[in-house]
Amino acid sequence: MTDEAPQKMQEVALLKALLHLQDLDLRIEACKAREIEIPKQKSKFDVQKQRLAEELKDREKNLQNLQLEQRTCEGEIEQKNGQTSKYQQQLFQVKKNEEYQALLNEIEGMKKQIGLKEERIISLMIEIDEAKARLVQDKKRIEAELKGIDQQCAAIDTELVDAIKARKQLEKDREPVAAQIDAPTLARYMRVRNSKKTGPALVPLNDQVCTGCNMVLPPQIANEVLAGSKLHSCHLCGRLLYHITNVQELSA
Ligand SMILES: [Zn+2]
Repeated sequence: MTDEAPQKMQEVALLKALLHLQDLDLRIEACKAREIEIPKQKSKFDVQKQRLAEELKDREKNLQNLQLEQRTCEGEIEQKNGQTSKYQQQLFQVKKNEEYQALLNEIEGMKKQIGLKEERIISLMIEIDEAKARLVQDKKRIEAELKGIDQQCAAIDTELVDAIKARKQLEKDREPVAAQIDAPTLARYMRVRNSKKTGPALVPLNDQVCTGCNMVLPPQIANEVLAGSKLHSCHLCGRLLYHITNVQELSA
């Protein structure tokens, strides 16, 4: 018992260092994930900004189309007025009654068409006024939305800078902790971490079950993990194993 005690003390200190290292590594991992995620959020905002710009362009185009139609109608009225005056002059020149009647019909038709165009212009003027008022409101709303997006983008930029700063600090903090662990154990831990990509490489044992993969371990291995005298790996998932009582023992 007295021979085993220093050995166990060492193993417990090693375990504690490994857990500390793992905590830092998991936090570094979370920072790296955020560093990938944050720029993605920003590209979503870029899409939103583009959509708003397109919306504004559509509204402007709509107003321009109405104004263009108004000008076209005005041109047509002018043209039809000219045609009507021509017919009116021809009235003095024709000799036959049916020709005179035909011209009167033409003039009547022209006046009807002019009347319709004038009605269209009146409704267009109302539509144009409405479109202008809407455009002013839309511009105001879109500008406010764009400002909001810019603020969120700025917040994201700050968040990214913070995430990078936090990771760099954690990486610095990691160095002295890693130095407390002997090279072969550190290499073992790193091998598991690199093979798992995410999540813990060192997991607690729950009764005889590896909490990394939920498989039952042989009783002898489970007992040795519980004894805390040797660092075992799960034979199924390869994760390093520890028992919670061994960590509590140290802090007590
Ligand atoms: Zn396992």
